[in-house]
Amino acid sequence: MVAKSKRPSEGSCPVCRSGELITISMSVNGSDLRFTTCHMCEAKWWLREGEEISLSSVIGEVAQAGVKRSSS
Ligand SMILES: [Zn+2]
Repeated sequence: MVAKSKRPSEGSCPVCRSGELITISMSVNGSDLRFTTCHMCEAKWWLREGEEISLSSVIGEVAQAGVKRSSS
């Protein structure tokens, strides 16, 4: 439905300005949730629908959705 596209212009660490980022995308409650970590300084942050959110918000989202593990 929504194509995941990499956008290098957005891919810089707010802490160290490195472009060496690792992003994991997932869908929770129909929202696009992304976990990004910096390869260089190990900063971590979450985005929901493109907006930065706190880890506690993420936990709330996941708890509401119910933890469903789909086996790979
Ligand atoms: Zn960094």
